Parts: sequence; C-alpha cells; structure tokens
Amino acid sequence: MQFSELAKALAAIESTTQRTMMVRLLVNLFKKLGPDEIDKAIYIILGDVRPPWEGVELGVGEKLCLRAIARASGSKAEELESLYQKLGDMGEVAKRALSRRQASTLLAFAQGAKGLAVSQVYDTLLKVAKTSGEGAQDLKVSLLSSLFVQASPEEAKYIARFVVGRLRLGVADMTIIDALAEAFGVDEAALERAYNVRPDLGYLAKLVAQGGQAALSQVRITPGIPVMPMLAQRLSSAHEILAKLGGAAICEYKYDGERAQIHISSGSVSIYSRRLENITHAYPDVVEAVKRAVSAKEAVLEGEIVAVDPSTGDLLPFQDLMHRKRKHEVEEAMREYPAKLNLFDVLYVDGEDLTDKPLMYRRLRLSEIVKESEDVLIAKWALFDDEEKVDVFFHEAVSMGMEGLVCKSPSSIYEMGARGWNWIKYKRDYRSEMSDTVDLVVVGAFYGRGKRAGLYGAFLMAAYDPKTDMFYTVCKVGSGFTDPDLKKMYQELEPYKIDHKHPRVSSRMEPDVWFTPAVVLEIIGAEITLSPLHTCCLGAVKPDVGLAIRFPRFTGRYRTDKSPEEATTIDELLQMYKSQKKVKVEAGGGGEAEAP
Ligand code: ATP
Repeated sequence: MQFSELAKALAAIESTTQRTMMVRLLVNLFKKLGPDEIDKAIYIILGDVRPPWEGVELGVGEKLCLRAIARASGSKAEELESLYQKLGDMGEVAKRALSRRQASTLLAFAQGAKGLAVSQVYDTLLKVAKTSGEGAQDLKVSLLSSLFVQASPEEAKYIARFVVGRLRLGVADMTIIDALAEAFGVDEAALERAYNVRPDLGYLAKLVAQGGQAALSQVRITPGIPVMPMLAQRLSSAHEILAKLGGAAICEYKYDGERAQIHISSGSVSIYSRRLENITHAYPDVVEAVKRAVSAKEAVLEGEIVAVDPSTGDLLPFQDLMHRKRKHEVEEAMREYPAKLNLFDVLYVDGEDLTDKPLMYRRLRLSEIVKESEDVLIAKWALFDDEEKVDVFFHEAVSMGMEGLVCKSPSSIYEMGARGWNWIKYKRDYRSEMSDTVDLVVVGAFYGRGKRAGLYGAFLMAAYDPKTDMFYTVCKVGSGFTDPDLKKMYQELEPYKIDHKHPRVSSRMEPDVWFTPAVVLEIIGAEITLSPLHTCCLGAVKPDVGLAIRFPRFTGRYRTDKSPEEATTIDELLQMYKSQKKVKVEAGGGGEAEAP
C-alpha cells in the first residue's frame, strides 16, 4: 500500500468523532493491507515502532527531527525552530516546510507519480530506532531526511508527528481488536484471548491476515514475551471475601511495591512492569538474585519487588523504589534501597504451560523451582476458611508494612488480562496518621547486617503499663539511626544485656538479645495499626490482636531524662490509636473521616 493512502486514513480517523466510525475506517484500511504490511501499519497507527515491552525507541528528539526536516526542505533549522515554537505541532512544521519545494516536485506528488510505500516508511523508521553508537545522531537525521524528501507535505505531517511521539490518534488496542475481528471475520473473544497471551497487535494482525481464526490457536505463552497480568477485584471484609471464594481462600500478603513479571529464557532474565514495559534495567540486583534462586531454564514468574532497609531487612514504603526509575541513579538506589522479590505465581516452567492449572498446583511448582534466599522469597501466604483468622493475618500484614492481603481461589486458573473474582484485594479503606512522637523502652535487639554488622541493626521497643507494671512491645525499629547512634546504642545497652526475656516484658517476638528495660528513645511512625505480632493493648480492640507502630523511626532524641516507667503508656497508645486522623486511602491523602 502507498503511504499516501495510509496518511488519508489517518486524517479521516483524526477527524472522526464517533468510535463506530473509527472502527469502520480501520476495517476498510485493514482489508486493503497485505499480510506483509498490516503489522507495520498497525505499529504506525499505535505510535510505536515495536510493541512497548520490547523497549525499542526511535531516540529522536524535537531538535533532531527539525534538523531532518530542514535538510529535506532546504530550510534553516533556526527558522523551523521558531515556527515550531509558534505552531507547537511538528506535523504542521514538516507540512509547511516541505510545501515550499519546487512546483514540479509538488506536482509529481499531486499526480501520485512519486510514492512512498507503507513498508518503506516503517522499515526506515525501524532502522532509525536501531541505529545506535557513535555517529548515530547524524545517521538518524540522514535516514529521516531521506524519508521527508520522498514524502508529500501531507505524508510528512504524519511521519513527523510519529517521530516525535505526537501522533495521538486515540486508537486504543481494543479498537484495533474490534476492527481486526470484523475485517477478517474472526471471533472477537478469541482474538482478545490471544491478545492477553501475546499483547502484540502487529503480530496478531499478520497472523489472522494469513491464517484467519484457526491461526490464533498457535498463540501460546512464550518466555520472553509478557502476558497481560491477572488483576484483582476488591472487597472490604473477610466475611464477604470468604463467601465469594466459596468458603476458603489462599490469602497472601499484598506487598507494597512494583509488580514484576519475570521471564527467564536462554539464560537471560527480563522483568516487565504491570503495564508491560521492560523494566529490567532498573533491577540488576533482582536479575542476579533470580538467576541464583530459580532452578528452571525457562520460566515465567510473577511477584512484587519491594524496597528494603539494608541494615534491618525491614520493608520500606513503595515510594522508595521510585529512585530506581532514573537510569543514572540505579547504582546508588541499589545500595540505599536494595530490592527484594516476593514471588506469588508461576505461569510457565520448562515447556509446561501452567496458566490453566489451579493456583494450589502453581504454588507447589513455585516452591519446587525456587530456592528461597534473602532477596528472593515466596510471598507469605496461608489457606484459611475462618474469617477471624483472615482478619488476624490481615492485621499482621498491615503492621508489617503491607497494604493488606490478596485473597485467591485455591482452584482458580491464571486468567490473563482479567479482573475477575478469583483474586480479591482486602485493603484498608483508611490510613491513619500518627501525629505525635512516643517514648518507648528498648527491651531487645536484633543484630545488624551489612554496614551494621557487629552492631545492633534494630531494636524491640515497648510501652509501659502502670497497672501491671509490665512493658508491652509495640514495634521493631531500625530506621533513623546514624552510624554513631548505633555505636552509642551498642555501648549503652551493654550493661543491661540479659540472656532471657526480662520478667517485666511481654513479647511475642524473639530478638537476638534481651535487655533489662532501661533505655528510652523517642519514636515516630506513620500510624498506629492493629497487629497480632505485638502485645501492646492485646485484645483491647480485637481479640488476640495488639497495637503496633507502622514504619517506626528514631527521631534522634535519647530520652535520658526519662525512666522506663515514665515512657509512653499502653493506655496513651490506645488513645492515640482511637483519635488518629483518618485519611481515605483511595483518595491519596484526601478527605478525613470519623475515628473508629
Ligand atoms: P492496587 O493499586 O491496589 O495495587 P492494581 O490495579 O495495580 O491495584 P490489582 O490487580 O487490582 O492491581 O491488585 C493487585 C496488585 O497488588 C497487583 O498488581 C500487584 O502489584 C500487587 N500485589 C502485591 N502482592 C500481591 C500478591 N501476593 N498477589 C497478587 N498481587 C499482589
């Protein structure tokens, strides 16, 4: 097909106001394209030379594009730059600049004598994308200007917009699927299924153009090509969740990190985001850890990558992973915010497609091929048929820094691309805010790792109860301590070291070292939550569940002026829990609501 015809279709799509009309225009276009060019036309329409997960980018900014247009039209780059500033549309700049060519050239375009083919345009653009290394910029400009020289002003408009990523036709993948189904008489559901397994519309269009619906049965999960992830519905009580899942659920911690689809094939590991972008470059440490931990030669795994505090191993909030997003900061981020991978599913292992196997079986396969290590873990889970137990597990997860639970049907298959009721999120509706600091007593400590080896890395902290004259644990804190702080803590605590839990301490945790309650520190946290791991106010709000401080941090203030009996009391913590400011989670920190 001539590119001029595609450009006409793009213009029509651009000006239509109805989706049905958009589909009609695409159907007509697809019917006219040959199997060897339909994929190329689709990539152009979607604005990417290759499916996004391949990470192939043109690497042409506005400046380079203007240079190519200037060279093709014989205009001055500075002049085009100010035209671009004025118009704000690279397409219009290209169109105007190339309209200034000799009348004979323009006439030839008008008569259709000179013609670029769709394949020619696409192949050149792909070449531009693949050009890298020394002198790449000049080569990219030459390739593009050769295209502009051969393009009519109208064609140049679309090429230029594509090049700077501003085609913006608003054609969604689903619109293309509708049009392909109609154009080739293929069942839309079958096409959508294939798309969920291989979300590459160029590839699928070529397949149906050549082999019709029958060809879709060839589409299988393939290591190296991401699939559309299974998504979760949401409910807000354990009762509803168990009812929906038929009485029993595999409940997993809902880690607060970045979803990762991990592909192992021919010795290399690739990581894809929830939106199927290739994010391998952000996680070199995860790549290495996966190579060590997974025994399969080929596999597709799913998990959540979380940031951890290197000295305590504690989970950090999701935002700390964002440092990985800037390429030049990855090295530093790896040191400051090392990542841990929590695997929760396996979709493929060495030739075995597991997507239609029950979750219970997939979990079993997962534990067979993964040798857990410090950085690669299997997501914490349990099978429950009792709502009370689900709730206790939920509170434990939240106090450990999770967002809640994902509860799954044990017999469910992996439904690619579906947001069905086999996975149900159980998140809190509200996040609370801890507005004040508390003074807590050190009752135990955990040995440090890495930079903190030989010192304590985290401390078990307790609040005081004057009624029973006991200390009840409320958090484990490792954040906020500088290196000198940790040295000082090690020395100061030495005289209080004992080889068993102090009789006035109540704890469900087992630290490496116990202390006689003596040292008081000022602590602040993100919020006070319920937790079955701590004994503070155990049972006061819910049976068998205590209070905990989520994301606790040492403020830097040693309360040497306070005796342990003057520390914050458990009653004060209960009051604080009850009067915490509630912030709606979904509103991202917006509206307030009543305290519980
Ligand atoms: P949210 O914003 O609540 O994370 P979402 O729309 O991104 O939701 P959903 O499929 O609705 O995605 O919710 C599940 C998400 O929770 C996954 O995308 C994944 O990133 C995260 N997650 C954390 N732990 C798990 C787990 N054990 N199983 C499945 N998903 C998990």
